[in-house]
Amino acid sequence: VGSGSAAALADGADLIAAAARDAGVAVSRLGGVGVGLPTMVDPATGAVASSMLLSDWARIDVARELADRVRRPVRVDNDANLGALAESLYGAARGVGDAVYVKASAEIGAGLILGGRLYRGSGGLAGELGHVHVRRDGNLCRCGSRGCLGTSASSTAMLELLRPRFGPGLDLAGLLTLVRRGDPAAYRVVTDAGADLGRALGDVCNLLNPKAIVIGGELGAIGEPLLGSITAGLQHHAQPEAAAVPVMSGALGLHAEAIGAVALAAATTQQDQARAEPPLTSVSEGA
Ligand SMILES: [Zn+2]
Repeated sequence: VGSGSAAALADGADLIAAAARDAGVAVSRLGGVGVGLPTMVDPATGAVASSMLLSDWARIDVARELADRVRRPVRVDNDANLGALAESLYGAARGVGDAVYVKASAEIGAGLILGGRLYRGSGGLAGELGHVHVRRDGNLCRCGSRGCLGTSASSTAMLELLRPRFGPGLDLAGLLTLVRRGDPAAYRVVTDAGADLGRALGDVCNLLNPKAIVIGGELGAIGEPLLGSITAGLQHHAQPEAAAVPVMSGALGLHAEAIGAVALAAATTQQDQARAEPPLTSVSEGA
C-alpha cells in the first residue's frame, strides 16, 4: 500500500467509524461495509484493477485492506456501478431489467443493468463511457487517447471552457446558476456536452438496446437543457428502434452511489443479491 492510498484507507476507516457513531451503532455490529471507487474494480476480488486511472491504488485490495482495519466484511465496486444498482433497485430505473446509468460529474462513468443484473464485464471495465471516443481531433485524455467523451462532456471540461469568460473561480455551483439564468455561453457548453453524451449513448443503445437511460452525478442536476441535448444526440446516432428510450434524471441525486454501496453491503433479499452479485471480502482469519 502506497503512502497516499494508506492515508486514504485510514481516513476511510475513520469515516466508517464516524458514520456508525452518528447512527448510534457500534462498528462491530455492522453487517457489512460497502465502498465505491471511481476506478475499475476487479469483480472477482474487489481489488483496484486499473493502474492508469487511479495509479496510487493499482492492484490494491481495498476490500481486504479496509476489512482488516474495521474488522467487518467489506464490499467494493466502481462508483457508477453502485449508482446503477441504486437507481435500478430504488430510483428512476426501478424494476427496469435493462438500463444504463450515467454518472456525469468531474469524470464520466456508466453502470449497466442488463437482464436484471449489474454487468461488470470480464475484468470490471464495463461501462467506462468516459473513454468512448467521440471527437476525432478532440483533446488528449489522461488515458492516452484523444477525443474521449470525458474530455468534452465532464464538468471538468465544461468549467475549462467557461473559466476564461467567468473567471478562474467558477465552480460547479456557479455553472448550475449560469444555466438556470439562461446564460447563452453556459447553455451552449452544456448542450454541446449533451450532444457528445448523446452520440456516445446512441452507440450504447445500438449495442445494448436499454429500456431507460438515467443521468446521475453532479451534472444530473442540470435537468432539461442537458437531457434534451442528450436525447437529440442519441436520436441522431442510434437506430430509430434503439433510440426510442427515455433519458431521465436520477431519482436519488447525489446519494445514488452511497445508497448503492449500502445495497451492495446488505444484499439481503434474493433480488438484491441477483442484481449485485458482489465480491465479498471477509476479515482475515485470526485478524
Ligand atoms: Zn480516455
